[in-house]
Amino acid sequence: MKTAIHPQYYDATVTCSCGNSFKVGSTVEKITVELCYNCHPFYTGQQKFVDTASRIEKFQKKMEAARPLVKKAQKEDDKDNSPKTLREMLEALKKG
Ligand SMILES: [Zn+2]
Repeated sequence: MKTAIHPQYYDATVTCSCGNSFKVGSTVEKITVELCYNCHPFYTGQQKFVDTASRIEKFQKKMEAARPLVKKAQKEDDKDNSPKTLREMLEALKKG
């Protein structure tokens, strides 16, 4: 083993936001995580949203703000009577 090229090895303490903590080998002393084996939905069997930055709320606000625009766009689509298929175009020519 060469000297002075390897990082310091620690028995790092991993601390989860649920309060659980355990030790692992690492090059840093402390690790903070949001999910661990104690609180991850895969292991608990319960669904839980990890939404610390309230991203779901932000997304729902955006959707709410966009709703009028979507309706307006749909109305404009309904107004459009131009032929959409070749058959419709040919039928329009026969009529006209
Ligand atoms: Zn946890």
